[in-house]
Amino acid sequence: MKHRKHRIVVLGAGYAGAYVAGTLARRLSPADTEITVVNAEPDFVQRLRLHQLAAGRDIDAPQLADVFVGTGVALRLARVTAVDPERQVVAVADRADQADELGYDTLLYALGSHGADHGVPGVAEHAFDVSARPSALRLRERLESLSSQRGGAGVLVVGDGLTGIETATEIAESRPGVSVTLVARGELGAPLSAGARSHLRQACVRLGITVLEHTSVEAVEAERVVCADGTALASDATVWTAGFEVSPLAAAGGIDVTEGGRIVVDRTMRSVSHPNVYAAGDSAYVIGDNGLPLPMSCASAGYTGRQAAAAIVGRLTGRTIANVKLGYLGNHISLGERDGILQLVDGEAQAKPTYVGGRKAARVKAGIVRMSLWATSHPTFGLPTRTHRLEAEKVEETVPLLENGGATHG
Ligand SMILES: Cc1cc2nc3c(=O)[nH]c(=O)nc-3n(C[C@H](O)[C@H](O)[C@H](O)COP(=O)(O)OP(=O)(O)OC[C@H]3O[C@@H](n4cnc5c(N)ncnc54)[C@H](O)[C@@H]3O)c2cc1C
Repeated sequence: MKHRKHRIVVLGAGYAGAYVAGTLARRLSPADTEITVVNAEPDFVQRLRLHQLAAGRDIDAPQLADVFVGTGVALRLARVTAVDPERQVVAVADRADQADELGYDTLLYALGSHGADHGVPGVAEHAFDVSARPSALRLRERLESLSSQRGGAGVLVVGDGLTGIETATEIAESRPGVSVTLVARGELGAPLSAGARSHLRQACVRLGITVLEHTSVEAVEAERVVCADGTALASDATVWTAGFEVSPLAAAGGIDVTEGGRIVVDRTMRSVSHPNVYAAGDSAYVIGDNGLPLPMSCASAGYTGRQAAAAIVGRLTGRTIANVKLGYLGNHISLGERDGILQLVDGEAQAKPTYVGGRKAARVKAGIVRMSLWATSHPTFGLPTRTHRLEAEKVEETVPLLENGGATHG
């Protein structure tokens, strides 16, 4: 009797999902697996560069159909609207809002994250953000119209995390006619080493950025923000960069998640509640090699994607699952096109005393961004293709493996 193929569905074709889909297509035989990637957008969105897109730079966006051509991966351009792990189906809606369901045997959930408003009133209605392409393009349009105005339009960037710093410096550099204010809840760049903090301050001075420290924004209105002490700050465009959150779909489907909705996974990226569900990238909550949760980052998407792919291939084909490094080494922050900061961290995720700054750091960061794009958009490069057949018995053993504590083979 002919066996039905094992259906692998990958949700999200960002840094994690596109990488995992490409790797699985390379490693598993098409004779007994079929791989479908579901993504809302037709092209690969380089989230690492969305602040640059907003500020006016053009960024490459390879078509996903081209990325997966020749790999055997089926691309489904649709929005995921629900996940039902009991029935092993995901609900999707295409651009014409046509609803459909996709069944799976193994699911990789990699839907990334979006900006979090933390319940601050007015953010959704009045603020811009750079966490997704449509919102980055909306900001770009606004900045273009502000640049053409005479006399001192002001942009307020709320949040001095990495995204806020990169966004404020990029806008200040690309839009010299616009005055930029960066609002920091505590001390500017607090997690950085003293040297890197001082480098950051000098960059803000050089770019004419006003920094407001120890300032908490409590409400966003159309033309101003209101701070905790009652002060109102005028703003022609408020850019909200105060954190990220994930889609509620995993929680709604009954998958074990953290309070914030990230899927709780074991060391192999397998859901602790649903053994044929894996998560990678921003959607996954995993403890890294330093004993702390991995941060949402492109590097974490790489590590968790590699580990998820290794675990899926290992379990389905009866091979040993390699332990992929789950490290957090540091941060690479661009300060406009020609300046940057590379800050390494120690085993407790604290900044090491030294840092690299200036053009060298900017070049390294640009190299990392190029490499991330290349790695995700060339899924067939280098490795042998489709060498592994499934071990039917191993597929059927999926549940007992988790009952064994979710431990890796070997
Ligand atoms: C402006 C900015 C700068 C950043 N800079 C850095 C940096 O310098 N270094 C760093 O390490 N990290 C940085 N990050 C964070 C980094 O981009 C994320 O951690 C990374 O993109 C996570 O990868 P991912 O694959 O989990 O998600 P994503 O890359 O976001 O991919 C998720 C994919 O899922 C799709 N999707 C989402 N919801 C649905 C749905 N319901 N249906 C169908 N498809 C859906 C999206 O369209 C997307 O293609 C930055 C983020 C931003 C916004």
